[in-house]
Amino acid sequence: MNYRHVYHAGNFADVLKHLVLARVVRYLQRKEKPFRILDTHAGCGRYDLTGEKAQRTGEWREGIGRLMTADLPAKPAELAAPYLDVVRGMNPTGAIEAYPGSPLLARRLMRTQDRLSAIELHPEDFAELQTLFDGDHHVRTTKLDGFLALGGHVPFKERRGLVLIDPPFEDTGEVTRMLDGVARALRRFPGGTYCLWYPLKTGEPARGLVEGVRRLAPKEALRCELSVRTRAKGLDGSGLLVVNPPFVLAEELGVLLPAIVPLLAQDETAGWRVEELVTSR
Ligand code: SAM
Repeated sequence: MNYRHVYHAGNFADVLKHLVLARVVRYLQRKEKPFRILDTHAGCGRYDLTGEKAQRTGEWREGIGRLMTADLPAKPAELAAPYLDVVRGMNPTGAIEAYPGSPLLARRLMRTQDRLSAIELHPEDFAELQTLFDGDHHVRTTKLDGFLALGGHVPFKERRGLVLIDPPFEDTGEVTRMLDGVARALRRFPGGTYCLWYPLKTGEPARGLVEGVRRLAPKEALRCELSVRTRAKGLDGSGLLVVNPPFVLAEELGVLLPAIVPLLAQDETAGWRVEELVTSR
């Protein structure tokens, strides 16, 4: 396990993922009924952007750094507000020094009736995650293989909720494990919303993932992507496949992403996509 998210926290890929996460949470909160969030690859939860590791790559400067200093038009600003307000709340002086990982963002958006299960396998990241949520009765942290959690942690007793699956894509086997895990989880919890993150390298998603999700034949699935550049190798953008998306998500992202792409663009190939991958309508 070589991957450490602290080198990448707040980068352009986190921006897309966390915007989508916040929109799904806000949608779930349209009803008073409680829900649960299962974060299968949670990371350590809070990132110090002034620390040596985050400073070494400085990736956050081209992600949240650009977004926080930009003036968004009214509608995209309203849609981005739940996410950006959490980041602002962690940086009260205005200088961007700290960034919320997905479990902390989720926690800050949750109401008293909502719950979070955060799974992490890396011993150091897990230790930080555990300390962050120590004594918080709304959050359960578990040191476990996140793909296994997709079997054991669903369905939720709340019967509603969101599963975020955000592995590091360190090896090719992860696509298969992701698809097998989601297939298993969907059989046990067909009504859940599942967000599967993936990297875009030379413009292409991880091989087999998009077709694999289509083959799972969910009722609805949305594909959204944001790319900032095209290079011969490395991460140029990222995407999320959202199985059972909120019905408003495609429209919301159709407003948000075109406003955000010009802010994050690093060359003229930057772009976005929102596509109904599977629809029953
Ligand atoms: N979701 C986090 C966020 O948005 O802030 C970032 C997660 S990072 C991309 C992936 C995380 O998965 C890393 O912290 C890594 O240690 C962890 N990890 C790697 N393999 C794992 C596994 N099999 N099960 C659970 N966690 C794993």
